[in-house]
Amino acid sequence: MFTTVAAINFIVFSSIELGLLDSVGTILSLGIYAWFRKTGNVALASWMITTAFTALVMYFIFMVNGTANSFMWAILIPPISYFLLGKNWGTVFSAIIFGFCCYIAYQLYDSQPAVEYSLGSFLNIVEVSVALLLMFRFYEGTRSDAYQELSYQNQKIQLLAETDKLTGLFNREKFDQYLINLMSSNDRSKTSLSLLLLDVDHFKQINDSKGHLEGDKILKGLAEVLQSKIRPNDLLARWGGEEFVVVLPDTQVDNAKDFAERLRAHVEQNTIVGVNVSVSIGVTQLTAHDNIDALLSRADKALYKAKHKGRNRIEVISP
Ligand code: GH3
Ligand code: MG
Ligand code: MG
Repeated sequence: MFTTVAAINFIVFSSIELGLLDSVGTILSLGIYAWFRKTGNVALASWMITTAFTALVMYFIFMVNGTANSFMWAILIPPISYFLLGKNWGTVFSAIIFGFCCYIAYQLYDSQPAVEYSLGSFLNIVEVSVALLLMFRFYEGTRSDAYQELSYQNQKIQLLAETDKLTGLFNREKFDQYLINLMSSNDRSKTSLSLLLLDVDHFKQINDSKGHLEGDKILKGLAEVLQSKIRPNDLLARWGGEEFVVVLPDTQVDNAKDFAERLRAHVEQNTIVGVNVSVSIGVTQLTAHDNIDALLSRADKALYKAKHKGRNRIEVISP
């Protein structure tokens, strides 16, 4: 920008003084840019650019005594100083320039000079308008980039917050939230919703004999098996430890029972990462006047019953 303005001042106005002023701007900008590329010090480079630009603008306005629409240049100080120095220092720089311009403008008013509209006046308006346009285009670009990055990071955080690290399934938080949302909605599917609580049998022994890492692999493998068996609308989550929970919307308890039995039989008949495991499952259904605690408590009781009756089986407690 300085180079263009310097060229205009040298060529169009044959003004050595203004041309030199803008050349100083060019040299300073290039110097600061080179220094910034070498050191990577963003904070100091921002200060240097803002200070240099502000000083030059003030000097220019002072030199031409506020004539020829030179005040237009001061308009660039707030967007530059706020962007580069932040809220507080941006305010300080803008206030200084504002005070300075008021002072010069008042002197002009006091001396009541005849106003002439020159080519210089016109170019000051055009140059500052082009600079403003480019600046706001740049700001909008960085703003929308930042916004996109933020929303991407938010999605990532959201996913992490509701995912169980070991199995990649939803975690307890997500499960709780899902049920809370469902209960507070008028969704009709909630009255025909069934729930399975599944627990690996004698997992402590498996851990003890195969090692904890192998135990982890079994949990991951089981998660994959369960995932492959559920419908798209079902919700599968790791309840904690070696326990999993499956929510089956639009499913009456009899169908949920059949599904649980098929799951149990599948796990019994197939090995998971080469190990024979079995699961016990408690099944229940939500009622119209149920709350979450009552639902979970019934599922837990059903699971306990299955364990008590010898494991590797399913038990149903109907509401
Ligand atoms: P039951 O048939 O009564 O359910 O017996 P169990 O041994 O499975 O039950 P218990 O609650 O006594 O033990 C659960 C075990 O699960 C104990 C714990 O070390 C193990 N466990 C919990 N979370 C993990 C995990 O993330 N990885 C591994 N490898 N083991 C886990
Ligand atoms: Mg358990
Ligand atoms: Mg267990």
